[in-house]
Amino acid sequence: MDNGTNTCDNGFSPETITKKKLTAPVIVIVSIVPVVLLALAVAVCIMLISKRRQKDAVSDAGRSHTEEVLLRNMNLEDCKVQLESKQFTYLQLENITNKFTRVIGQGGFGTVYHGYLEGSTEVAVKLLSGWSSQGMKEFLAETQNLRKVHHKNLVSLVGFCNDGEHMALVYEYLPQGSLHDHLRGKIGLTRPLSWRERLQIALEAAQGLDYLHKGCKQSIIHRDVKPSNILLGHHLEAKIADFGLSKAVLSDAQYVSTVALVGTPGYMDPEYHRTLQLSEKSDVYSFGVVLLEIVTGQPPIVQGTGKVHILERVKPMLNRGDIEEIVDRRLRGKCDVNSVWKVLELAMMCTEEYSAQRPTMADAVVHLRESLTLETSCVRGDSVYSERTGISENSDFRDISGTFGPSAR
Ligand code: ATP
Repeated sequence: MDNGTNTCDNGFSPETITKKKLTAPVIVIVSIVPVVLLALAVAVCIMLISKRRQKDAVSDAGRSHTEEVLLRNMNLEDCKVQLESKQFTYLQLENITNKFTRVIGQGGFGTVYHGYLEGSTEVAVKLLSGWSSQGMKEFLAETQNLRKVHHKNLVSLVGFCNDGEHMALVYEYLPQGSLHDHLRGKIGLTRPLSWRERLQIALEAAQGLDYLHKGCKQSIIHRDVKPSNILLGHHLEAKIADFGLSKAVLSDAQYVSTVALVGTPGYMDPEYHRTLQLSEKSDVYSFGVVLLEIVTGQPPIVQGTGKVHILERVKPMLNRGDIEEIVDRRLRGKCDVNSVWKVLELAMMCTEEYSAQRPTMADAVVHLRESLTLETSCVRGDSVYSERTGISENSDFRDISGTFGPSAR
């Protein structure tokens, strides 16, 4: 009789049968599944680790991911770490640059070509043209000094080539050209840099120089600070480039005697020019000229007009407090005047006649951060730009006009 409980002849209830039938596989499953899962997890881990290792391995593409992270976060102590750059053959360079097809620039050292490493990482290849002793000197200075320094605001050396008669340097590629291109080149005509962008670029360039001066055991004096040697990344991040004239000196040496004057006219420290005594403050002077260019958009020396230097052009206007005349036309009505004054004040300190009166690059970094804060708070709406004058309405214009020098403000 079926009373709801199934019974069988063998006297086992269906429940018992089911239990009996399932017990063996269940035991097998219970014991095998965790083992399989564990094995799978281990396999996945091994795969991930080996993938990561492959990525981290130093390849022709330059530094590994780990090294890049390391470099970005380096501080003073990290200067002890020497990360070797890759050596390329000329044949490899031909492949990288597709037989030197795309020229991206021309410098005193030679031509700069665009290239791809492993088909994806963009690089700039600077090929030494000819065998001039100056070219060789610059090649060696650049290779030696750039290999010692690693900072997010200094261009990275990916590798070099010293293959028979061919010498070249391979750098990370900076797609937005140089600050010069933006201030006075084609790019500047179509899309001028905003004041905030200019400030950010100035601050980052100052950080790069401060690191060069004080970041390592030896101090490195760049000796050719100018807008064409400040290159810009995808998001306009600034990096100091071109170390061909750079000189490593003992970091506690105040001055270094040199035998020949090097640098670019218009940017050269007058004290160094007179005495051939070089110091970090020579870079500070050049940086001051760059700041004046950033504010005015003008070259350091205007050709054909008696070659008047930018300092001589700006000083009289500053003394009259005529900021409208000084500021780049493309910025008028679009920048906070306090922030502009602060940068002009810094530019004047950096270009003091005597190097002892100039600030250090570390001082310049602090000053520029303050200027950026002023501009940022203005853009946030803490004060309002006046379209007509370019002066923000709550600007403290009267206190600072005409007073420049270390004691001002
Ligand atoms: P000089 O060496 O005579 O002072 P320069 O600084 O312009 O002149 P290079 O450093 O050889 O000379 O560079 C020439 C141009 O090549 C630069 O102005 C820039 O436009 C381009 N360039 C150089 N390096 C890179 C790079 N890493 N990424 C992108 N462009 C670059």
